[in-house]
Amino acid sequence: MTGQPIWIRGGRLIDPATGRDEPGDLFVAEGRIAPRPASIPADTRVVEAAGRVVTAGFIDLHVHLREPGGETAETIEPGSRAAARGGFTTVVAMPNTQPPLDTPERVAWVARRSREAGFVRVIPCGCVTRGRQGRELADLAGLAAAGAGAFSDDGCAVQPDALMRRALEITRDRDLPVIMDHAQDRAIEKQGGVLHDGARARALGLPGLPARAEAITIQRDIELAVTVGRRVHIQHVTSREGVDLIRDGRRRGIPVTGELTPHHLALADEDIPGDDANFKMNPPLRSAADRAALRAAILDGTLDAFATDHAPHPAAEKARGFRQAPFGVVGLETAVGITYTELVAAGAMDLLTWIRRWTLGPARVLGMPAPSLAEGAAADLVILNLDETWTVDPLSFVSRCRNTPFTGRRLRGRAEATVCGGRLTWRM
Ligand SMILES: [Zn+2]
Repeated sequence: MTGQPIWIRGGRLIDPATGRDEPGDLFVAEGRIAPRPASIPADTRVVEAAGRVVTAGFIDLHVHLREPGGETAETIEPGSRAAARGGFTTVVAMPNTQPPLDTPERVAWVARRSREAGFVRVIPCGCVTRGRQGRELADLAGLAAAGAGAFSDDGCAVQPDALMRRALEITRDRDLPVIMDHAQDRAIEKQGGVLHDGARARALGLPGLPARAEAITIQRDIELAVTVGRRVHIQHVTSREGVDLIRDGRRRGIPVTGELTPHHLALADEDIPGDDANFKMNPPLRSAADRAALRAAILDGTLDAFATDHAPHPAAEKARGFRQAPFGVVGLETAVGITYTELVAAGAMDLLTWIRRWTLGPARVLGMPAPSLAEGAAADLVILNLDETWTVDPLSFVSRCRNTPFTGRRLRGRAEATVCGGRLTWRM
């Protein structure tokens, strides 16, 4: 991924690993952060960063690139480009493709295609169970050897307790990547709810998905983490009950981590304007009280990381309304603006903590080294303009799909340039 040398000039450098925060220049050569050269090479690309924050590239634990099998919604190329535009240098690609990423060959294929696209480091997430069917385990060691950096049956929880337990034991014994769970009870999901089981569902006359579906599974996962002595990661936490379980577990020293999506931070079910499936996702937007609990949890670190759950769907599919449309919203290109506006611009969170929820937090979940601006570190960087106010226009998205609940929203902050592996992968 290396390219010509880059000189990022006059930025505010914030290192998430150390907390160092000072004005300065950054030099990039051979794909790494380099010392200032004695003389600047003639082919150096200069990126002016005055008034900008320069920090480690953001990591998204949860994206759907849809390839193979879902190419009408997204492919690796535009999905990766959307990630770079959003300020990301690493994304974890969920395995609920068609066919799913449950063989080493398929995992290796996604890794190779992503490298060819060259916009972002894509970490394929392997399935926990074959076909995501929840009946027998996939070849977890084989998937890891092929490049899987995490496991999940995302879209479904790993339901049978014995199977989840066995998966945790294998990953513990063989030192394999983390298991991440889409913690929603399958039996409750199968009852056909399409939005949070609350006042808004009743007002719209639509079937609800109760928060209990999440709490039951988080409780189960925490118990298994204790029994097996192995960390479990809870994907897209949405409920007060879920947050309380994770906070309580962590106080007792139980290894459990969790992620928060920008849409669950910024929206509640009361914000759903009507039968508009651009507000339909699983898990759903929950109550204002749940939203307040999520906000407290990302502030106090009960939730370690943001993650977009970028889930593209074609407009024609989303036009079918809440009952018929598929679950999911895009998120890569609005994530920085939504989370910065909601938390830092609003004065609730400090800038370093916000950066860490997008860098250090997800890196820890994955067991990766701390993202850093130190000399010799991989040149995965983002240059952020945090003063600019802009309006979400889905027509400007480079993702193949436009299914966002944030159309027309005024946001502060976005990625002005992204450097991945020493190459400029996005520049406004
Ligand atoms: Zn999910």
